[in-house]
Amino acid sequence: MAVTRTFSIIKPDATRRNLTGAVTKMLEEAGLRVIASRRIRMTRDQAEGFYAVHKERPFFNDLCTFMTSGPVVVQVLEGENAVLRNREVMGATNPAQADEGTIRKAYAESIEANSVHGSDSDENARIEIDFFFKPEEIVG
Ligand code: ADP
Ligand code: MG
Repeated sequence: MAVTRTFSIIKPDATRRNLTGAVTKMLEEAGLRVIASRRIRMTRDQAEGFYAVHKERPFFNDLCTFMTSGPVVVQVLEGENAVLRNREVMGATNPAQADEGTIRKAYAESIEANSVHGSDSDENARIEIDFFFKPEEIVG
C-alpha cells in the first residue's frame, strides 16, 4: 500500500466543544499524520466553493451556514491509504449509523454537525488540499 494524502476539516461543532485535540488524537491513533494544519473562520465564498458539488442538494444552504458558524481546523493528513483510512475512522455521515470507535460515533451532534470532513477520493483530496494550502505549508 502506498503512503498518500487526504484533506480533513474539524468542523465548527467540534471546535466549539474544544475537541480539536480529541479528534486529532483519533486521527493519529488511526495511523494518520497531520502534515499541515490551520485554524480559520471559513468565508461564505469558501464554503460555497468547497461544497460546490452539493449545490443542488436541499441541505446546501444550511451546510454553508453551519460551516461558517465558527472556527474550523483544515488539515492535510498523510498515511497508508490515507483517504480510505480517514473515511474509516470518521464513520458514517449520519452519526446514528456510525460504528463504535469512529469520530462521528464519539462526537457528532447530527447528520449536519458531524464533527469532521474527509475527502472521498485521491483526486478530490488533491483538489481540496489545493483549495486551502500552498505547497510550502505542507511539511511531510
Ligand atoms: P460526508 O461528509 O460523509 O462525505 P457528504 O459528502 O454526503 O458526507 O455531505 C457533506 C456534508 O453535508 C456532511 O458531512 C454533512 O455535514 C452535510 N450533510 C450531508 N447529508 C445531509 C443531510 N441529509 N442533512 C443535513 N446535512 C447533511
Ligand atoms: Mg463528502
